[in-house]
Amino acid sequence: MTTNDDQKSLKINAWGETIGERVSTYLSPTLKEDPADAEVISHKLMVRAGLIRKLSAGIYNYLPMGLRSLWKLERIIRSEMNRSGAKEILLPCVQPGDLWRESGRWEQYGPELLRFKDRHDHDCVFGPTHEEVVTDIIRREIRSFRDLPLNLYQIQTKFRDEIRPRFGLMRGREFIMKDAYSFDVDDQGAEVAYRKMYRSYENIFRNCGLQFAVVEADSGPIGGSYSHEFMVLADTGEDALVSCPGCGYAANMEKAELTDYPAQSAPAGPLTKIHTPNCTDVPTLARFLNIPESSILKSMLFEASSENGPEHVLVVIPGNREINLIKLKNALGGLTPVLCTPQAAEEITGVIKGYVTPLGAKVRIIADQMSAKLTAGVVGAGEKDYHFTGARPGVDFKIDGVFDLAQTQAADPCPRCGAPIVLKRGIEVGHVFKLGTKYSKALGSTFTAPDGSDKLIVMGCYGIGVGRTLAASIEQNHDRDGIIWPMALAPFQVILLPLEVQNEQISTAAETLFDQLTELGVETLLDDRDLRPGNKFKDADLLGIPIKITISKKGLANGQFELKHRRTGEVVMIPEKDASKIIFGLCTLALQKGGQN
Ligand code: ATP
Ligand code: MG
Repeated sequence: MTTNDDQKSLKINAWGETIGERVSTYLSPTLKEDPADAEVISHKLMVRAGLIRKLSAGIYNYLPMGLRSLWKLERIIRSEMNRSGAKEILLPCVQPGDLWRESGRWEQYGPELLRFKDRHDHDCVFGPTHEEVVTDIIRREIRSFRDLPLNLYQIQTKFRDEIRPRFGLMRGREFIMKDAYSFDVDDQGAEVAYRKMYRSYENIFRNCGLQFAVVEADSGPIGGSYSHEFMVLADTGEDALVSCPGCGYAANMEKAELTDYPAQSAPAGPLTKIHTPNCTDVPTLARFLNIPESSILKSMLFEASSENGPEHVLVVIPGNREINLIKLKNALGGLTPVLCTPQAAEEITGVIKGYVTPLGAKVRIIADQMSAKLTAGVVGAGEKDYHFTGARPGVDFKIDGVFDLAQTQAADPCPRCGAPIVLKRGIEVGHVFKLGTKYSKALGSTFTAPDGSDKLIVMGCYGIGVGRTLAASIEQNHDRDGIIWPMALAPFQVILLPLEVQNEQISTAAETLFDQLTELGVETLLDDRDLRPGNKFKDADLLGIPIKITISKKGLANGQFELKHRRTGEVVMIPEKDASKIIFGLCTLALQKGGQN
């Protein structure tokens, strides 16, 4: 421990945080090498820049530099949540197992839910989310329609025992989430609360200086359109999404609707069996017959298990299309479809892979909308090396149901306006969800309506992955030298690099500027280490602080400092005497532009 006497005094802001720090007395360990277990750039850079350190799989320590960015993000979230009228609470990590039994999730939740016993042998869980706990508060405290609407939120630590924790903070086991829960008297009220949160989330990610898209997300067979995901756009993102430059329609790939896409009927004519030697896949068959792949009707057998045992379903789709399994699941009323192995398909249909046919099939057949629209297609003949041409859907073979089942491809027509769709990748950082009465019903959370009757409270839930948002911001903003923080999330706004700290003129100029900037409230990191300039530059680039000021003998001889913008690489010389004002102005401006610098 150093005593106060050893340290030059540090300025403190209104929240009690330091405005400036000296690298020599800070804990910001940087690494030259990527950590061995890091696959994605944000994970590599967060560790190398000394923002986080791994404790164990999916569990991370935030070091001071990482914590500063975390605070900034939390502050942005908090101010938008408070502005929306939501009230902040803080709920416990450890929750009684009995509450989870009441909601039914003790049984439903898989091994992601960390369960343990306390010394009295009571079941406990470490909260992966807080619907149960917050609904328990509401059922105790809310009595009348006069107490509603209400939105409660917290920023708190969750634990989910993810099967594959990876990508650093992006998919941790322990992670920080902002979760909010809205409570309303009816659907209409819940809709208003949902829209409010939607807007707050847009403000939050905009104020972070991030490029993002809001996409319609799948919310199961009975969800309606009440789920949206907020995606930070990054080529490395885990999630695929579709976006329409024409009308702004955007959706998660799983949910992306199609009303139409190019598919061409095979030449009409009588149903004819033809010899197609060795045509076991769609491209080979299309080449052999000299027809587009979309004229071939691919038949795939799926198994879906319900309480009544397994059911087999044959799905017919144009040959150039992938089946979207979420759409198929919804078409099957929520039952999860599993593609049958070639062996199983052969046992069930008696037909080997590549020749499965809808003609005379005994199982239920469901068709993708476009395959149902074709006037004729080529289908398997149910025997090796043969296909049928001229097969008319719904005439030559039965169709038990028609659904939108295909995966969207680039340039498919937008389901809203018909313009060509663009595919993008993103990272899900936020999720808004209309819950309805699922939890209020399970836990008995009611209120007295004006007519004296008891009614169930209508809920919504809204999450932001706080650590994941930081990681996503790096995934979107970096170059080969390191992080490029948006001003709004940067741990410091400015870094000062005195090149020779032994030189008194240089160190005095640096200390003076440091004092002036921190006095103005500009968050400044002073690299006062006695290191070679090359090492300091490398670390500064790695840390990604938006504005870098180099203080050198040469510059000082002209009464100037060098100012370099981390994002653009643009360099300008600024006069020493006006430096603090110029820097203050740049930082303020960058924040006003929504954090983008
Ligand atoms: P995912 O599909 O990525 O597992 P989820 O649907 O389980 O996410 P929610 O339960 O909606 O996520 O949680 C709200 C937010 O919490 C997500 O949008 C995401 O940003 C974040 N989040 C979820 N799981 C993790 C995790 N394992 N690590 C870090 N952040 C997470
Ligand atoms: Mg999850």
